Amino acid sequence: MLVFEFKAYGKVKQFAAVDDAIRTAQFVRNSCIRLWMDNQNTGKNDLQKYCAVLAKTFAFASELNSMARQASAERAWSSISRFYDNCQKKIPGKKGFPQFQKDCRSVEYKTSGWRLAEDRKSITFTDKKGIGKLKLKGTRNLHFYQISQIKRVRLVKRADGVYVQFCINVNRNDNIQPSGNTIGLDVGLKDFYTDSDGNTYANPRFLRIGEQVLKRSQKRISRKIKGSKNRGKARQILGRRHLKISRQRKDHAVKLARCVVQSNDLIAYEDLRIKNMVKNHCLAKSINDASWYQFRVWLEYFGKVWKKVTVAVNPQYTSLECSSCGEIVKKTLSTRTHVCQCGCVMDRDENAARNILSRGLSTVGHTGTFALDASNALGDSSSTRSGASLTEQVMSLIKESQCL
Ligand SMILES: [Zn+2]
Repeated sequence: MLVFEFKAYGKVKQFAAVDDAIRTAQFVRNSCIRLWMDNQNTGKNDLQKYCAVLAKTFAFASELNSMARQASAERAWSSISRFYDNCQKKIPGKKGFPQFQKDCRSVEYKTSGWRLAEDRKSITFTDKKGIGKLKLKGTRNLHFYQISQIKRVRLVKRADGVYVQFCINVNRNDNIQPSGNTIGLDVGLKDFYTDSDGNTYANPRFLRIGEQVLKRSQKRISRKIKGSKNRGKARQILGRRHLKISRQRKDHAVKLARCVVQSNDLIAYEDLRIKNMVKNHCLAKSINDASWYQFRVWLEYFGKVWKKVTVAVNPQYTSLECSSCGEIVKKTLSTRTHVCQCGCVMDRDENAARNILSRGLSTVGHTGTFALDASNALGDSSSTRSGASLTEQVMSLIKESQCL
């Protein structure tokens, strides 16, 4: 699935209609959650049927395209089923009980309710919300794809305007020659990552500067009187700054991940839990965590596209263990060099990256079904944890999977 995004241009009245459509989508989603809360054993189908009931009861709900209403019900169901999943997997801590949404920013249409212009430079929404024709501006070209390949159209509100997203059904499955390289990545606060060959990749500029910029904008808001016009303006500025940083973050993640996956057959990294990471209040670190998380998502994506193995390993003791003899060498956070009795002396992060790589290799070897169902294992390997087995076996399996 590819997602193309265009900025939408139209009149103030049209954007008011977009707001109205988004509010209706939120209403449908929240009503479905309510139905589920009030009635035991409410299933996905019940939510779908409920959409029709809502449309009959509320005029504004019937104005929204019927498939868009269903898409909202699907959103409700996905949050419910995620909650069920978390309960079943017995994830420690909060299970993510479905919440009512207050600040929904998007509405999703499926294959009806919109019409793309012949030149594909504008889109007309044909339901009774009255959005009408919006001009599209962006760098992507929709001409390469059939209209039937467009499975979803989303209207998304951001700090700097409304965007139209097209979800296009294309299977990306490119072939790349195996490189014979494997790599382990250790994330740090100082550097973006250190790999198992001892190379470090510095934090990009926006990460270093972003923190100061956000802090300044945040301060500007707190100086203004609550509820005032100027405070509203300052908030808009902060929103735009956040947007800019998140765009830079994505850009950086995509480029770097593509590069790493292209030049390696197996990529191992720590299985850091996002839940734990988001908790901290240090701004620099939270920006870094978000960047790292996005980088990981793209690593796994490109891993699937190019049939490479991505493994998330248990991060416990990776920085303490000696990568050559396995002995635990105690260190404080400020100890930058790893010095072991066995004579192994190297940078702390490089040592950790080597441990991550060897755990990654042993994990994949442990997956017994790997040879039988390589494509499946490739898809799932990102979530596996460390086991123990032979490195050679793994490497031959990787080569086999490349031929598939
Ligand atoms: Zn050692």
